[in-house]
Amino acid sequence: MTDRPADIRKLVRQHLEMDAFFTGDFGVRGGAAEHDAAPSAQPSGEADRSSAAEGLRAIAEEVGACCRCGLDTSRTHAVPGEGNPNADIVFVGEAPGADEDAQGRPFVGRAGQLLNNIIAAMGLRREDVFICNILKCRPPDNRDPRPDEIVHCLPFLQRQLELIRPKVIVALGAHAARTLLKSELPIGRLRGRFHDYYFSEDAPPVKLMPTYHPAYLLRNYSQDNRRHVWEDMQKVMAELGMEQKSK
Ligand code: URA
Repeated sequence: MTDRPADIRKLVRQHLEMDAFFTGDFGVRGGAAEHDAAPSAQPSGEADRSSAAEGLRAIAEEVGACCRCGLDTSRTHAVPGEGNPNADIVFVGEAPGADEDAQGRPFVGRAGQLLNNIIAAMGLRREDVFICNILKCRPPDNRDPRPDEIVHCLPFLQRQLELIRPKVIVALGAHAARTLLKSELPIGRLRGRFHDYYFSEDAPPVKLMPTYHPAYLLRNYSQDNRRHVWEDMQKVMAELGMEQKSK
């Protein structure tokens, strides 16, 4: 069946928007880039704001002193995570790499650069969101996190999420998505739709969007993969009421 002209125009527009998304030439109405203010949840009060920040600082100190799983013996720095204690969005990656281990900060290497572009394309600044990982220390040679390491480290992330209480968690890649969702499904089956993440048994769930890891995207920079991440982030933006526009 042949596409009608209106459909073709729509396809071309979507294609151009997607390209703009990854090159940074894309903006969001109502987003921080336009108004110089994060569309973050306004916490109920100053006390909530500072208690979340204090709690996160305390967790960062514990992470820095942690030697539960043995990765402390090979790390340069622990990487607890960073960002807005009252963020609407928390991005969760897999584990620090060499750059992150050297600096003690999450997503500061090449994958981090792409994540920065994605965050900027969503109309946000890095400091508007919170960025962290499943593992807080680098596994040697960037090997996959081991199950025992995840078991030891996950409580730090669970406590961080409970303090921040974001509206949306974006799980970057298979390790983050499968760990947080307690799922065995491949990332290709998990991504593209919201799942429920439970902070605790008595609290309502928060939405979790799995998407491809920026490092995977860099290795497989295809039109399809970029479109998938773009579509996933558009769903996140729609969920948060962030209006999209192409420049
Ligand atoms: N990859 C991750 O999963 N996390 C980082 O912090 C950096 C790269």
